[in-house]
Amino acid sequence: MEIRKGIAVSPGIAICRPLVIDSKDYRIPRRSIKPSSRASEVKRIRDAFADAIRELTDLAEVQGSADSKIKDIFAVHLRYLRDKSFRKSITDYVSSELTTAEYAVYTKLNEIAFHFESVKDVYISARASDIYDIEKRLLTQLLGDVADEVEHLKEEVVIIAHDLTPTQTAGFNRDFVKGFATEAGGRTSHTAIVARSLGIPAVVALEDTTSSITSDSTVIIDGNRGIVIVDPDDDMIAQYRKYAEDFLSFEHKLDALRDLPAVTRDGVRVMLMGNIEFPAEAVIVKNKGGEGIGLYRSEFLYLYSGSEPTEADHYEAYSEAVKAVEGKPVVIRTMDLGADKLPQGSSHITETNPVLGLRSIRYCLQHLTMFKTQLRAILRASVLGDVRVMFPLISNLEELRQAKMIIRDVMEDLDDEGRPYNPNLPIGIMIETPSAALTASLLSGPSDFFSIGTNDLIQYTLAVDRANERVSTLWTPADPAVLRLIRSVIHDANKAKIGLSVCGEVASDPQYIMLLLGMGVRTLSLAPPMIPEIKQVIRSVTIEECNYLARKVATMDSQRQIKNLLRDSTMKILPEAF
Ligand code: PEP
Ligand code: MG
Repeated sequence: MEIRKGIAVSPGIAICRPLVIDSKDYRIPRRSIKPSSRASEVKRIRDAFADAIRELTDLAEVQGSADSKIKDIFAVHLRYLRDKSFRKSITDYVSSELTTAEYAVYTKLNEIAFHFESVKDVYISARASDIYDIEKRLLTQLLGDVADEVEHLKEEVVIIAHDLTPTQTAGFNRDFVKGFATEAGGRTSHTAIVARSLGIPAVVALEDTTSSITSDSTVIIDGNRGIVIVDPDDDMIAQYRKYAEDFLSFEHKLDALRDLPAVTRDGVRVMLMGNIEFPAEAVIVKNKGGEGIGLYRSEFLYLYSGSEPTEADHYEAYSEAVKAVEGKPVVIRTMDLGADKLPQGSSHITETNPVLGLRSIRYCLQHLTMFKTQLRAILRASVLGDVRVMFPLISNLEELRQAKMIIRDVMEDLDDEGRPYNPNLPIGIMIETPSAALTASLLSGPSDFFSIGTNDLIQYTLAVDRANERVSTLWTPADPAVLRLIRSVIHDANKAKIGLSVCGEVASDPQYIMLLLGMGVRTLSLAPPMIPEIKQVIRSVTIEECNYLARKVATMDSQRQIKNLLRDSTMKILPEAF
């Protein structure tokens, strides 16, 4: 039995067989197999060779006929693939070392390539690139097996991977994928956010995990405490089955709060809304007792389909969400592409610092056709309900003015076409950069509302990449600098009498709710499955207690002190959350 500690990003417990996903762009980790799996791994290698030969022969016919140099290269590769002793060196490695097929291919071919590279003769050393090519082709076949298995699952699994994209995570079949664990990521990486939204138990930032888990192990994923247990003993499994049952019954108990208001014990009403990535989640928001959608991450429309959505795609998605919440507000955030949200196989230019690069509103302002297509659809959907629009990552007043000017242009186009829309549609912005927080009093003029995006605000204030596991312990809302910025934004929004909400992941964390209420926040938007738990916290406290706590936090100068106080205060009112 092996217990590993990572970061808990999505609550719940999963106990089942692991499915380990490697990536051919990533170093293939050494993974052991049981002697009983030897034959099946050897067969996978034989099949991969056979498929690669078939694929290459077809390619040689099509491309080789046009170019004799290409034909020669393919002929060399085919000679290697048909060489039985070459293949045997790999299958022997599996048998003697008891490793996976992927690892054997990776190790043996790199060994050969390295050998070629070290030879002084230019002709021979150039052969190394052929070997790398063959390695890539074989790995594509082998990893394709696993990708195929993920798509056609027949039994329950937990996914173990170096990293997952938000789109991969969103595509998991929920009937079979019961949890996941990754080596990369942080609490607010978008993969973690999707896991929370979909209610998949998950742990991230686990060091060197893919190499130590074999497919015949059993794995426990504890998304509440951030623990992954490999090959648990019977006692541990029994203990976890009981814990999972208790957790489920705690969740069922909270479901009873669905139709009760989020109101403090001394009568202060709080509005709880849901964050969604897909229109179908709007129903979950409603079922969990959410009062509308406070953040619709519309870029997932793009990420999921892998191509630019048409106006009809946008309109259809927004209509579905608006109809599902039956007259409650839907805040559609314009596309927030870039950083860790890039379409698969995207033609985005690789940037050295994508988080500081051409992302979000900056990207939209440089791609006006795409931006206007989305705005047209939002405006058209605005007659179906209480639709509001929100711009992400605004970092100065000019950007906001420009974005509003484009909305006005689009309104004029719709006027010319005689298409109806709500001319008074509320227009708000996300406060996610220190520059926006510091100039909130200026930005409040042209804004109808602010929504504080703490995920990015913390990243930019503390200079900590939110998706980088190596610095994930440095990312925290409990920092005096972050809290000062939040306080000042609340103050400026209240002074300007505009709406204010918090939609970062801090709003899904029970430990920060009393503090946010004490600082004056009255609207929260969060992962739909967490709404009942957060409502329970709100219904258990008085505003007076929250104000006292916030005043005390304001006097503290260290993250540790603040975290301890928040933890102790929450533990008293909701021990089940720990
Ligand atoms: C945020 O940055 O806090 C936010 C809500 O936006 P996202 O997580 O999509 O970047
Ligand atoms: Mg953000």
